[in-house]
Amino acid sequence: MMTEHEAIVNNKPELLCCPFCGGTDLTPGYWSLDDGEVDSVECDNCYAGAPVEAWNKRDNADAKRIDWLADPEQFTGSIQLPKECVEKNLHSLRAAIDAAMEL
Ligand SMILES: [Zn+2]
Repeated sequence: MMTEHEAIVNNKPELLCCPFCGGTDLTPGYWSLDDGEVDSVECDNCYAGAPVEAWNKRDNADAKRIDWLADPEQFTGSIQLPKECVEKNLHSLRAAIDAAMEL
């Protein structure tokens, strides 16, 4: 038999990664506010926390752009990175970008 709290936790919407550190180890919970309880989430890595609605709401235009660029299935766009960065990171365009950013 689930408690009411467990039922709330188990029915949570899918959570995006932590907007601060990118962590994916998240602890769902709830916050008691003046006008009732809301689902909340806390990052196990950096301990940032927020109501789920706020947690999942972010300006992710750049994330969408990089997801599109990094998608190995799409060939419409192309970016040029230093050859050595690409050769050392053939498994991941993100890793190649990270390497180029460190130059
Ligand atoms: Zn975090």
